[in-house]
Amino acid sequence: MRRFHKVIYHANNQTVDVDSGLIWDDVYSALDPYNVSVVGGRVSGVGVAGFTLGGGYSWKSNQFGLAIDNVLGYELVSPNGTIVYVTNDSYSDIFFGLKGGFNNFGIVTNFKLRAVPQTLVYGGLLIYVDIHKFDNILTALVNFHNNNKDPKAQLLPSFFRQAGLICFALTVFYDAPTAPKSTFDEFMNISHVGVLKTRSFLSFIKAVPVFVTEGMRGRFHTVSVTNLTTRLLQELKNLTIYNTAKFDSRQSSLAVFTAEPFLSTYFDKSQGGAYPHVSSATPLLPVLVQFGWELPEDDEFFINEIKLTVDSIMQVVLNEEKNDNGTVQIRYPNYALETTPLSEMYGDNVPRLQSIRKAWDPDNVMNLTGGFKF
Ligand SMILES: Cc1cc2nc3c(=O)[nH]c(=O)nc-3n(C[C@H](O)[C@H](O)[C@H](O)COP(=O)(O)OP(=O)(O)OC[C@H]3O[C@@H](n4cnc5c(N)ncnc54)[C@H](O)[C@@H]3O)c2cc1C
Repeated sequence: MRRFHKVIYHANNQTVDVDSGLIWDDVYSALDPYNVSVVGGRVSGVGVAGFTLGGGYSWKSNQFGLAIDNVLGYELVSPNGTIVYVTNDSYSDIFFGLKGGFNNFGIVTNFKLRAVPQTLVYGGLLIYVDIHKFDNILTALVNFHNNNKDPKAQLLPSFFRQAGLICFALTVFYDAPTAPKSTFDEFMNISHVGVLKTRSFLSFIKAVPVFVTEGMRGRFHTVSVTNLTTRLLQELKNLTIYNTAKFDSRQSSLAVFTAEPFLSTYFDKSQGGAYPHVSSATPLLPVLVQFGWELPEDDEFFINEIKLTVDSIMQVVLNEEKNDNGTVQIRYPNYALETTPLSEMYGDNVPRLQSIRKAWDPDNVMNLTGGFKF
């Protein structure tokens, strides 16, 4: 898709046409001169298309919702080879399906996205290596999650274990040139490496580390929670320090556990769609588990381990949330392992998605491609 590489900003109606062959770095770089941005990826190197077709948890999500809530139109090559322009008015079923449904309905060549204002931002990456301070960090995280109401403030907290080395990485973001002093103080008061500073949005995106996974084999898997509790974060800490210690004997192993403290009100921006994210009474906060390794012969071991690990987190969540409304079963498709049943990602939308798919692609052309299939 590399020849689909245009970014066109329309100042008159505050929209941006973004081709699907790009990564977010390219998009932010093209929009930088106009002081606007879009609801896009949080780290360098992630593709526009998969991110936007699967959901899209962004630094802007507290303010504007997910990426799928900010797509106004899709240029789509449909399974029968015709090019159609999908909006809520022209093809409402396909518009619904594309908001989480990946390549089930064809190949997207361009997205029309809502433009949002972009100033300089404040933030950066803080690294904590003293595991004796991890409990203080967990307390700070729970306090931030319970008390922060400012949609411009966001965190991406991850426990890392790589070849026996353990650290806690905290990416801190504030969507303005400076942040109110108290917002991140609790984290700054715990000994760390790294600084927060005023910078361009692009420079901030490039500061988030992804190089640790370069060239590795790997998998993501996930569970959704409605709240970030001390018990859950303790579980992620224990998995990093104890349960994944057995990975150290495998070549170039990596384990990352990420919790996502979005404001529960981010669902208020929901525009609906295949990925059910509808009510701020039951927000979905994805917990991401990522394992990496080097050797193909270790595939089976790590894929089995990621399933067991996510199941164990799920048990903690079920005990903790005593949640019987099924919300925790909606896993974020962009983080879910390939064997995840459709019902655990798309919930009650599955029958509707299957019937839209059947009518739109009667010859099952899109089954020639990989990925979750309706
Ligand atoms: C380092 C890293 C950081 C990440 N950070 C975030 C994050 O902050 N928030 C978040 O929500 N997710 C995040 N993710 C997950 C990310 O959203 C998914 O991995 C996403 O699928 C990546 O999209 P891609 O286009 O790069 O990948 P691809 O592998 O190219 O695409 C993924 C799938 O999307 C579909 N697809 C791709 N292109 C098209 C097209 N043109 N038309 C139709 N279907 C298409 C296909 O089904 C394809 O299998 C991250 C992933 C990584 C590796």
